[in-house]
Amino acid sequence: MTALDATHDPALRSWIESANLPDSDFPIQNLPYGRFRRQQSDEPWRIGVAIGHHVLDLKWAATQCRWDRDVDGLLAPLAQGDLNAFMALGAPARRRMRSALSVALAEGSGQRALLERCLVAQSAVDMALPCEIGDYTDFFTGIHHATTVGKLFRPDNPLLPNYHWVPIGYHGRASSIVVSGAPVVRPNGQYKLPDQDVPAFGPSRRLDYELELGVLVGAGNAQGQPRTMAQAEEDWFGIVLLNDWSARDVQAWEYQPLGPFLAKSFASTISPWVVTREALEPFRCAFERPAGAPAPLPYLDSPENRARGQVDITLEVLLQTAGMRERGQPPQRVSQSNYRDAYWTVAQMLAHHTVNGCNLRPGDLLGTGTLSGPLADQGGSLLELSAGGKQALELPGGETRTFLQDGDRVVLRAHCTRAGARSIGFGLCDGTVVPAIAWPPA
Ligand code: MN
Repeated sequence: MTALDATHDPALRSWIESANLPDSDFPIQNLPYGRFRRQQSDEPWRIGVAIGHHVLDLKWAATQCRWDRDVDGLLAPLAQGDLNAFMALGAPARRRMRSALSVALAEGSGQRALLERCLVAQSAVDMALPCEIGDYTDFFTGIHHATTVGKLFRPDNPLLPNYHWVPIGYHGRASSIVVSGAPVVRPNGQYKLPDQDVPAFGPSRRLDYELELGVLVGAGNAQGQPRTMAQAEEDWFGIVLLNDWSARDVQAWEYQPLGPFLAKSFASTISPWVVTREALEPFRCAFERPAGAPAPLPYLDSPENRARGQVDITLEVLLQTAGMRERGQPPQRVSQSNYRDAYWTVAQMLAHHTVNGCNLRPGDLLGTGTLSGPLADQGGSLLELSAGGKQALELPGGETRTFLQDGDRVVLRAHCTRAGARSIGFGLCDGTVVPAIAWPPA
């Protein structure tokens, strides 16, 4: 596993002043990758690194600045705008690039004069999905979410017996993943009202969000070559925020026997900046199981995973209705939780996914599932916060919500903080609900 190195030094400062502000998500210790272009341009998307309020343009940086020869080679796919090709190079490439960027952006760097010309303000760029996402699998590792939602759907049998043994997941839809800022159209679908014998069709009446993290796969594995826990731990590229929008009425009607389908495939939003596994190194922590939980099967277990398989990431959901926006009220926090409460770690998700010989490819997305905390007000979805739509949530200005209404904006945020480390953040995962398409479509 990666050790802490000079790139994590909390005393390290950048010559880009905004990166040194104490509340910056993107200090020099973070260095997340994203895909951007200048607003009002039709240039090809290019790869950049977020630093303070700026983006370091790696296409320009590759040509305008002098780098060590091995770094030149690593910059080539990045300069071409191909993050997947860089992901395919694996952990050593990621660490070498991180170290080179850290030196280049640190106070006193000899590369400053040339790199100053390669900066763009974040306020002047549009962001795309950070990479091509070939496949998307959504897990169910939030045990508090699984238990609370299980109780709503099956009061006598909330947590099915396989939960303690199998990292449960289903194959999601990669084509409808969108980047933060894209509007989310309320889906039409089938749902069955409790007092009706036959289903109705129309706009979902129980549209919800899910607070999740998305893990992007690094080099991946060949078909038929499962990853051990040690290999799995090396081979995740980084983490983004993920809002797995969910139509609860459609879900309740369609989910048996094969699991979620149209209730979730209409849209999933991710944040644009990928926080790398190496940037998360200072925030790793022990993987702890609730009392009485069985030990994982050997293929899902390793001493390293027990000692530091988890990541301490504080997560938040904020909600702003159209009314709040009109009244000038900022998004209001509706819940907070922490990734370290998840029942399975990133390495366990990867190892389990490949154990049958399934191949993962660079840039594949693994959702963690909804990450709720143990307390009732820590639900990572409205389904939980409203107790299945029975208790409305009160918002500033007197409005209430059980599920999302048109015009509602959902913002996910996250940060990592630990004594002796520089705090880092993930930026925003932001989406606003717009009205359903009239049926039949024009
Ligand atoms: Mn989900």
